[in-house]
Amino acid sequence: MEKYPPERADIVIIGGGVIGWSIAYWLKQKEHRQGALKVVVVERDPTYSRASTVLSAGGIRQQFSRPENIRMSLFSAQFLRNINEHLGIVNEDAIDIQFNPSGYLFLANEEGAPILEENYIVQREEGAQVMLLLPDQLKKKFPWINTHGVVLASYGLENEGWFDPWTLLNAFRRKALSMGVYQCHGEVTGFKDSKREMVTDEGDPVTFRRIKQVLVQMPNSLECQPVECSLVINAAGAWSSKLSELAGIGIGHPDSLEAVKLPVEPKKRYIYVFHCPDGPGMDCPLLIDSSGAYFRREGMGGNYIGGLSPTEKEEPDVNDLEVDYDFFQQKVWPLLAHRVPALESLKVKTAWAGYYDYNTYDQNGVLGIHPLVNNFFFASGFSGHGLQHSPAVGRAVAELILDGYFTSLDLSPYSFQRFCSGDRVLERNIV
Ligand SMILES: Cc1cc2nc3c(=O)[nH]c(=O)nc-3n(C[C@H](O)[C@H](O)[C@H](O)COP(=O)(O)OP(=O)(O)OC[C@H]3O[C@@H](n4cnc5c(N)ncnc54)[C@H](O)[C@@H]3O)c2cc1C
Repeated sequence: MEKYPPERADIVIIGGGVIGWSIAYWLKQKEHRQGALKVVVVERDPTYSRASTVLSAGGIRQQFSRPENIRMSLFSAQFLRNINEHLGIVNEDAIDIQFNPSGYLFLANEEGAPILEENYIVQREEGAQVMLLLPDQLKKKFPWINTHGVVLASYGLENEGWFDPWTLLNAFRRKALSMGVYQCHGEVTGFKDSKREMVTDEGDPVTFRRIKQVLVQMPNSLECQPVECSLVINAAGAWSSKLSELAGIGIGHPDSLEAVKLPVEPKKRYIYVFHCPDGPGMDCPLLIDSSGAYFRREGMGGNYIGGLSPTEKEEPDVNDLEVDYDFFQQKVWPLLAHRVPALESLKVKTAWAGYYDYNTYDQNGVLGIHPLVNNFFFASGFSGHGLQHSPAVGRAVAELILDGYFTSLDLSPYSFQRFCSGDRVLERNIV
């Protein structure tokens, strides 16, 4: 990575995860004249040791409850299918995303069945190929499932499965670099802004701000490099609310707009890798039990990965990425073994933890400009589905910046404004 950022850039993207690099790619893809935009991506950790992108499960599904999320998935699936047309580079090897089109299988009990059915209707309306299965149909298709307590299941027939997150991240990055995007290894530690006092129609004083400089702390040095810029994009994933605070967002008189915080928090999630030679085998989809426990096949040879989101009371400490193996023994395994009796004989091989970029307000992404900081954009809070939506998110942010509005998919319900107005856009299918 280049050590020093340029002294001036049109757009500074903070965070070089899949979201940051997707935005960088789409900005260059859409710029009106080649070379017109100077875009820099600032990433503090080029090894990505804690980045959500590379610690994710790599899943893509259409089975969401919000039409916008379904539409984003449908676009992303098309994008991934044609990835070499978008991100291929002349004279370089073709990109192999390692897509496993094995589908997602959601199981619902008595309580969850009506919701599953409602979601299914929305998904079908949006053009997603999903089918409902009654318990006997489920048993016929997947004889290894114990259907006790299952009232309804939904299964994705197309555009669902999993792929390699590293490959997607690298493909976006390499393509964006080939198109002239700058990258910089450093940590954004502050901002310099300018202020303008105004009075609202109601006669209340309000302060508008613009970020003039992004301050980048260079690695292993006390040196801080200011980058003058026209526009800043916060794509710092699980750390995006910290970054917003550095920009003065969420700090102000409690009754004022200035005090509205970005409600995105890191939430630690474990993924356990286990071996089970007598497990379901090659036709195994990504199964999400009515209890919330999930698992899927990992490669061939009887390996699987799985996990469960903890309850609010069980939420682990987020200061480190240590794995709690007892959580698997006590919470996850009994649920999986109940649903798939063959998994009683599994053996845990290894595990890892990563941070969900969790939007505590409504579990959906935050896209677009801050109402008071005129050149500060958000692209974070994707709550466990940011990897799969990254192609659509990058395109959407580039449209907002270069066209002034969403021209492909209308994602305006995901604006920061909703935290001020109280409009939630709840996603019911969070795994
Ligand atoms: C266990 C787990 C499983 C998941 N499974 C799935 C899945 O199956 N499907 C799916 O779609 N999504 C999944 N996700 C969610 C997905 O990984 C995230 O939504 C997505 O990767 C977010 O991408 P990002 O680029 O915003 O964040 P990140 O990949 O975390 O990138 C943000 C980057 O910002 C950098 N950064 C932060 N602060 C600064 C700063 N001040 N200066 C410079 N750089 C900074 C960080 O170093 C980091 O590299 C999962 C997540 C986890 C943890």
